[in-house]
Amino acid sequence: MSNENQNAELNQLVCREQGELIQKNSDQRPAILLKEDTCKQLIREAINSLKYSYTPYSGFKVGAALLTNDLKIYNGCNIENASFTPTNCAERTAFFKAVSEGKKDFKAIAIVGGKDGILTDYCSPCGVCRQVMMEFCNPKTFIVILAKSEDDYWIYTLEELIPLGFGPKNLTLDK
Ligand SMILES: [Zn+2]
Repeated sequence: MSNENQNAELNQLVCREQGELIQKNSDQRPAILLKEDTCKQLIREAINSLKYSYTPYSGFKVGAALLTNDLKIYNGCNIENASFTPTNCAERTAFFKAVSEGKKDFKAIAIVGGKDGILTDYCSPCGVCRQVMMEFCNPKTFIVILAKSEDDYWIYTLEELIPLGFGPKNLTLDK
């Protein structure tokens, strides 16, 4: 790709630099390689997944939409259980659906959530889900979108959400 083409493409990319979690190292952030319309599409899909969220106990509904490198989207919702520990988060639902269908290369995930499905705040992934992301994603390039709406969202790299994370690399498997 020529420099000119690269610059043209870069101009279409979403790159938000603000956000409490990313302020401290914003000058070292890698370019975020995701187009804004893709970002909005993922958020729409995540919001759409809220309706399937099964949360009779907490009422806290979460939806996720995971984008593979070959541009397929896998949706997920959280699924609670009367015995609590089998409860599964929306993010892991999306990952496990994708992995169970042979996908192992991922670009981005959008996550939304709130009590009764009302998105009053950004819903960030729990530690367990961050660890699952570490298993399948390059922490420097995988994008996590935390959204309240299609127009109100923050973008992070996985590395920002799980600094010094333990992953396949630590066991000398490439990722
Ligand atoms: Zn989780």
